[in-house]
Amino acid sequence: MAKLSSWGNYPLIEAKEFYTHEFEPLSDYIQSTETFIPRGNGRSYGDSALNGKVASMLGFNRILNFDVVRGELTAEAGVLFSDLLEVLVPKGFFLPVTPGTKFITLGGAIASNVHGKNHHKEGAFSNFVLELGLMTAQGQYIICSPTNHSDIFRQTIGGMGLTGVILWVRFRLKKIQSSYIKQVNHKAKNLGELLSLFESCNSSTYSVAWIDCQKGGKDLGRSILILGEHADLDELETTDQRNFPLKSHSNKHVSVPFHFPSGMLNRWTVSIFNHLYFHKEFQSSRSFLAHYDPFFYPLDKILHWNRIYGKKGFLQYQFVIPFEAGAEGLELILQKISASGFASFLAVLKTFGPSTSLESDISFPQKGYTLALDFPVSSGIFELLDELDQLVLNFGGRVYLTKDARMSPETFQKMYPLGFPTQPKFSSLQSQRLKLHI
Ligand SMILES: Cc1cc2nc3c(=O)[nH]c(=O)nc-3n(C[C@H](O)[C@H](O)[C@H](O)COP(=O)(O)OP(=O)(O)OC[C@H]3O[C@@H](n4cnc5c(N)ncnc54)[C@H](O)[C@@H]3O)c2cc1C
Repeated sequence: MAKLSSWGNYPLIEAKEFYTHEFEPLSDYIQSTETFIPRGNGRSYGDSALNGKVASMLGFNRILNFDVVRGELTAEAGVLFSDLLEVLVPKGFFLPVTPGTKFITLGGAIASNVHGKNHHKEGAFSNFVLELGLMTAQGQYIICSPTNHSDIFRQTIGGMGLTGVILWVRFRLKKIQSSYIKQVNHKAKNLGELLSLFESCNSSTYSVAWIDCQKGGKDLGRSILILGEHADLDELETTDQRNFPLKSHSNKHVSVPFHFPSGMLNRWTVSIFNHLYFHKEFQSSRSFLAHYDPFFYPLDKILHWNRIYGKKGFLQYQFVIPFEAGAEGLELILQKISASGFASFLAVLKTFGPSTSLESDISFPQKGYTLALDFPVSSGIFELLDELDQLVLNFGGRVYLTKDARMSPETFQKMYPLGFPTQPKFSSLQSQRLKLHI
């Protein structure tokens, strides 16, 4: 038994982790273990990858086939996106969809059906998946795709590890000419201005806004909208970029060596950070070439940045509400947070396009605005998030399970009314809390 938590460091539990890199011991483990949950790299925030018994998939980390003619990759489920990029980028390919960290596994990307800054144009990771290998509750190996075992294929995509253990995945890649992104930053004075900017820029492949959540009144929603496009060879600017157009990321990092004292991140320190961040941009708009690493993964430069929230950990709250609820819904939610006095260090707004019929009934993305917020665990925060749940529900929205550690089963049932066909073999603290197995 060892202490185990995911990225939010909440909850922290005692767990027994099973590790192998071979099929047979995994099959034996599945058959002989009453209940457990598969686990990738623990970059989900809450309790979806936690249970008294977990099966780590990090040993399954081989690339099985890279078809550069078709632009397709087959890799085992435990391989990290960061390792894939080191192989793909020098060959002129990129991940079709990537979240805000490259330290996730391929299996985790499927189980959470991850989205990136391009969902409004290109959809979730599921849009690019061709087939996958799965080990079922009986320890049986099956290959599933939209046409083969199609029902279990669909329920596995965004199924939070509750349908079986994903062993490998074959998926389509994106072709690129360079590893650089043409980045444009626009400052928005308030929410109205930001939403108009999002609308006028919706043909941009990548878009994301950073919002200063502590601003209220006429400044509510003060933000920076960040747009991006992959740069072609003739758009590179410096000699270094032209000489090494397909340079992958460096593995140099700084690290937060210990947990910060709790209380250090409070509304005053966060407000100073937000002020500096907003005024770092002097002009109302700025364009420049950025490497993909700082563009997609700005937080990855600081290893263990989750420790700045202190030992008690933090909760990430990410919801989506339909565009129709748009300005009114976001305004009410931001006002509630700003008035609550709880400081969200990060507040990130993106837009989603429609979901598809190839995603499980508990997959998160639906057409609308999605906002992600971080809150240190402290007294009163659970009550605030319960209130936000009600607002999100009233606007026809839902909360992202891979970030969740506290939602009630009643709220879950209203947000995901189709339910989910689970059996007790694959079970997480989250699926138990949400009463998914009854
Ligand atoms: C800084 C940061 C930024 C992020 N940004 C985004 C974002 O922009 N968009 C987004 O969608 N997500 C984002 N995330 C969340 C992250 O992408 C997902 O939680 C992802 O699933 C984590 O992958 P993992 O390998 O760490 O999986 P884990 O956290 O270990 O597990 C997550 C879920 O996947 C299941 N699982 C993992 N491996 C397997 C397997 N082989 N078979 C079956 N089930 C499996 C687990 O049971 C669990 O339910 C972010 C996370 C961080 C820390």
